[in-house]
Amino acid sequence: MKVGFIGLGIMGKPMSHNLIKAGHSLVVYDIVPELVADVAASGATAGKSAMDVAARSDVVITMLPDGAEVEAAVLGPEGALAGAKTGAIFVDMSSISPIVAQKVGTACAAKGVEFLDAPVSGGEPKAIDGTLAIMVGGKQEVFDKILPLFQAMGSGATLTGPVGAGNVTKLANQMMVAVNIAAMGEALVLATKAGLDPEVVFNAVKGGLAGSAVLNAKAPMVIARNFKPGFRIRLHQKDLRNALLAAESMKVSLPFTSLAQQVLMALMNSGRGDLDHSAIATFMEDLAKVEVRKPV
Ligand code: NAD
Repeated sequence: MKVGFIGLGIMGKPMSHNLIKAGHSLVVYDIVPELVADVAASGATAGKSAMDVAARSDVVITMLPDGAEVEAAVLGPEGALAGAKTGAIFVDMSSISPIVAQKVGTACAAKGVEFLDAPVSGGEPKAIDGTLAIMVGGKQEVFDKILPLFQAMGSGATLTGPVGAGNVTKLANQMMVAVNIAAMGEALVLATKAGLDPEVVFNAVKGGLAGSAVLNAKAPMVIARNFKPGFRIRLHQKDLRNALLAAESMKVSLPFTSLAQQVLMALMNSGRGDLDHSAIATFMEDLAKVEVRKPV
């Protein structure tokens, strides 16, 4: 397939590499020219704009920070929709508000372009390995056409409902991850303040009911004081804000998500917005004046 890929950041770059490896012909674009040159050096064609990418592609994938960037790259004057071929399929793999996904989907439909929202979970390591979990919203027949591309980037793609459903599922995922990291932070702070080695505590609990993929991925990062992103605090704050906005529109109360979103905002205001979200634990550390690390 002739595939356009727009947004070559932490996630988009390895995802586009995996599509190239699977034998697809790629045209790529990012507002940062160095990122375009980098992926072009691995066998993609450099596009001049989102519109240019769409004019040369049957399928256009976007992997951008949030809804505003997706609207700019798809619906803007130099955007992908302005260059779309007849019968094109657009797939937005960014994590955005389901409300914005539906708006973009409706604009695409008005121009005869099919649209899927297909956010991912798994972070940079799984983007590199091609083992992302992909949560999709849209029509079954469009999903079936795009499945080979999803299989090149992920280990599983699930159609969860109509356009917007992919992002509702992703928001549910992000709520569980944030609250899980926050609970982990509180637990490790308490154990460390009590004089225990947090690594011993982690190893003791990871096989029990508190064990989780989140714990296995994030506790070692906190204990090693390695907060290199990964998944940035500011992106997680954006996801929880989108969850709260969607919840408000449905009159759903989300007390723990609200609290986690406030913690993320405070971390951004203290200069930690570009740290990995495992650094949520540093908020609890500040409150207790203790650092989660192995005792000396
Ligand atoms: P990133 O900031 O590293 O990459 C986004 C890229 O989009 C940047 O290179 C930026 O230059 C480019 N961009 C911004 N506006 C653009 C525009 N108008 N046209 C073209 N390019 C534009 O972010 P990321 O970590 O790759 O995340 C991308 C999306 O995936 C986000 O929605 C994020 O929430 C989601 N996500 C990230 C992770 C993770 O672990 N990093 C995991 C799952 C989902």
